[in-house]
Amino acid sequence: MNLDAKNEMTWCPGCYNFLILASVKKALTELGLDRSKIAIVTGIGCHGKIYDYLNTRGIYGLHGRVLPTAMGIKLADPSLTVIGFAGDGDTYAEGMEHFIHAGRYNTNMTLIVHDNQSFSLTTGQATPTSQQGYKNKAQTLGEFNKPINPVHLALASGASFVARCNARDTNHTIQILKKAIKHKGFSFVEIIQHCLIYNKETSGFDKLMYKIKDNNANMKKAMFLAEEWDYNSKTGKIPLGIFYQERKPTLEEKWQKKLK
Ligand code: SF4
Repeated sequence: MNLDAKNEMTWCPGCYNFLILASVKKALTELGLDRSKIAIVTGIGCHGKIYDYLNTRGIYGLHGRVLPTAMGIKLADPSLTVIGFAGDGDTYAEGMEHFIHAGRYNTNMTLIVHDNQSFSLTTGQATPTSQQGYKNKAQTLGEFNKPINPVHLALASGASFVARCNARDTNHTIQILKKAIKHKGFSFVEIIQHCLIYNKETSGFDKLMYKIKDNNANMKKAMFLAEEWDYNSKTGKIPLGIFYQERKPTLEEKWQKKLK
């Protein structure tokens, strides 16, 4: 399957988005999916340019609206493999309400969040996952507020597949993406992807990362692992891997049952 698109690359040279793109292409190729049956949706942010570089169908959408657009596509044609790409600002600020309800609804689709803890496309303002004290053009005195923990939030919202990986570790990311796309239900994959230009303080987090074994439906364990890192501290441990996975009825299945 040739997923290469011929558009000019406008990410900064060396940006970790290139690694995410490579991981996505490899995961889709190894899954052997029919390219015409893949639909992608992107939001607004540096991540969104992935739309131009992946030769699939879909919609380059609005800021924060990846999830409702992806859900609409899936409900209109359940035979499609639907994948949403979004940024941390996109998902946890403008799109926060959609993120919570996506967990509740459990539509059979995948959300991949490129989390660089910064609104990098618009020159580095703080997002809901930026660490306290992060100084930028908009918050010259530093971010006052504590970051949210999206992994914890996804678990609390009922997401049936919750995982985190590191963009720099492509082999691990490919394996997680394959499992997320194969999972029947709403899959959330948070990819830690440091920006080379803004919020460079986060680039040292790699040394805190470690891999966990796939966790199935043990919520207590998943919550414990999610709490190990609060997106704020520069110490402690950052677990990577599948925090939670459970087969639950999807929105499409619940809907079909009602129609009978
Ligand atoms: Fe990548 Fe940051 Fe450049 Fe955006 S601003 S393309 S996230 S390095």
